[in-house]
Amino acid sequence: MGDVIGPIRVPDPRGSGPPRLPSFPPPAPAPTCDHPRTEVRRFRQSNGVTVARVQCLTCGAGINNVRKDSVADFDSLPAFDDALRDAWRRKVEDHYRRLRDDHDRAVSDRDAEWWAWYDSYLASASWGALRRAALERDGWLCQGCRRRRATQVHHLTYRRVGDEMLFDLASVCDACHDRLHPRGHEGG
Ligand SMILES: [Zn+2]
Ligand SMILES: [Zn+2]
Ligand SMILES: [Zn+2]
Repeated sequence: MGDVIGPIRVPDPRGSGPPRLPSFPPPAPAPTCDHPRTEVRRFRQSNGVTVARVQCLTCGAGINNVRKDSVADFDSLPAFDDALRDAWRRKVEDHYRRLRDDHDRAVSDRDAEWWAWYDSYLASASWGALRRAALERDGWLCQGCRRRRATQVHHLTYRRVGDEMLFDLASVCDACHDRLHPRGHEGG
């Protein structure tokens, strides 16, 4: 059962435990704009009324409306630039996409590192002794079906992997172990 989430959830191993999982840095903030350059422009509202609106020339945000009569020549104002605002939004989306990609890559690197450690652990003498102790405790009988001889030892949890309690392990037969790991990694 722990197998599916194992690579992600394994906490703080001690001693010769699995690789420590890096905590991800807090995501960088989205690009922000403090609207340093603005211009008054003609903006057509959804109700059809055209107003004088201050637009940020960097991010395209509409900041506030100003009274038409405060503008010298309303009709000659440049039109509000929707494309500018859309371009900024795309830039923000790209920013977050990059963060997501970096995060996904870090997760996959971490998983690969974990599995490499796990494979070497399964080959170690300490795992060999634990495995044998679990099989002996279970009388070499599969704890999944209690019909067939146990041939493998399954992790009920990866919480203490590398430093397991015996009750973290269950002896199983090939058929039952296949049911526990329908696809993917040959876990323990
Ligand atoms: Zn701005
Ligand atoms: Zn079985
Ligand atoms: Zn297993």
